[in-house]
Amino acid sequence: MHEAMVAQSLLSIISDEAAKHNARPICARISCGKLSAINDEVLCFAFEAIARDTPCEGLKLEIEHKPLRAQCQNCVQDFDVELSQARCSKCGSEDFKLLADAPMVLEELELQTD
Ligand SMILES: [Zn+2]
Repeated sequence: MHEAMVAQSLLSIISDEAAKHNARPICARISCGKLSAINDEVLCFAFEAIARDTPCEGLKLEIEHKPLRAQCQNCVQDFDVELSQARCSKCGSEDFKLLADAPMVLEELELQTD
C-alpha cells in the first residue's frame, strides 16, 4: 500500500524534527502533487496506526494537494492544469508539456514543548 510507505517516511521525518527540538509534534501540514494519488483518509489512518506508542501519537495531519503544472509550448508560460479545461491560462494553446509532479513536502510542523 502506497500510503503506508508515505506514512512511514513521514513518521521518521517528523520524529527527527521533534527530537531535534526536544518537543512533541502536534500538527503537521504536508503537501504533495496530484499525481501521487494520496488518499487523505488512508494516509491518516496508516499514520495513526504506526504512530501509536511513539511521540507522534495523536498528531494531526493536514494534507494539501498541489495542482499539476504544465508549460505551454506556444508562449512558454507555466500554469496549473485544470483537468476539465486543459489549456494554457495565458494564450489558450492546448500544446503543452506536463511538468514533474510536486514532491511530498513537510510544509509546517507545529511542536509543543513540555
Ligand atoms: Zn500559452
